[in-house]
Amino acid sequence: MGRRGDGALREDYKMVEVVLSSPRGFCAGVVRAIDVVEECLQRFGPPVYVKHQIVHNPYVVAELEQKGAITVEEVDEVPDGSLVVFSAHGSPPEDFEKAAERNLRVIDAVCPLVTRVHNEAKKYHREGKKVLLVGHHGHQEVRGTMGQAPMTLINDSAPLSEQDVSADMDWPADSEIAVITQTTLSVGDTATAIGAIQERFPGAVVRNDICYATTNRQDAVTQMAGLVDVVLVIGAQNSSNCNRLREVAEANGTPAYLINGPDEINPDWLVGCQRAGITSGASTPEVLVEAVIDALDPEKVTFLEGAEEDITFTLPRELR
Ligand code: SF4
Repeated sequence: MGRRGDGALREDYKMVEVVLSSPRGFCAGVVRAIDVVEECLQRFGPPVYVKHQIVHNPYVVAELEQKGAITVEEVDEVPDGSLVVFSAHGSPPEDFEKAAERNLRVIDAVCPLVTRVHNEAKKYHREGKKVLLVGHHGHQEVRGTMGQAPMTLINDSAPLSEQDVSADMDWPADSEIAVITQTTLSVGDTATAIGAIQERFPGAVVRNDICYATTNRQDAVTQMAGLVDVVLVIGAQNSSNCNRLREVAEANGTPAYLINGPDEINPDWLVGCQRAGITSGASTPEVLVEAVIDALDPEKVTFLEGAEEDITFTLPRELR
């Protein structure tokens, strides 16, 4: 396995060029969520409990924990009367109810773009539509969204015909259907899933909720993949948008690997490669990208131009 900064990687290959994808790294929702925890630590002092990893990156989580954040998975783990921040991925209503029962002070760091999906789900349900959510079973965002209203989950990575379709989905073709999606899906796979739903329910109202950051990073990696011999996606294994970036690079014909940082580089991946493309997910700090570039030690680094991003989100009302 690779070793950080000791030059050992260079014995196995000679990297001529690193091509950096843009945009990459932190999105506005992640910046806001980290700011929420930092601000709580400053204003109220540690400990600040965080329900679920504030964003899906162990480096970010560890840095905040060093400052006094305590990450828990369930509301029940937070001591009565404490301050708890709910993660960027969004939470189901029962988590807020449990928190109220425990007399917890909740500050919700949910990304406003996820809140928008929650609101859509509630609106469509109020209108009497059957709601379908395209997303990944078990992902934290899906848990939060599914709690907002009754809905059926459609896995985006398999054709509708291969879904474990419950009896609930055995509806007439002219049923009133509304389709919403997880924010961090593959643009291509989601289009396929939505196409299959529309074939089955031609009148379905479709909202594609894949967010700007996910779309821009996937577009950028598509552009980069054709220019390089290998793609390294920097980010965590449990990050949905990082996994999608790796898949998009591979779908464009370039071998791609998802790594947390330089220590996870396997030199075997790089044998015969002269150009490595690097991108990072919406929850990955730039310092990890820089560490990977250092480890590869290329002759030159090239920056690709991509979509401009100037979106920012204000802090939750309680912290303004
Ligand atoms: S990836 Fe998109 S939805 Fe998720 S936190 Fe970032 S901006 Fe919000």
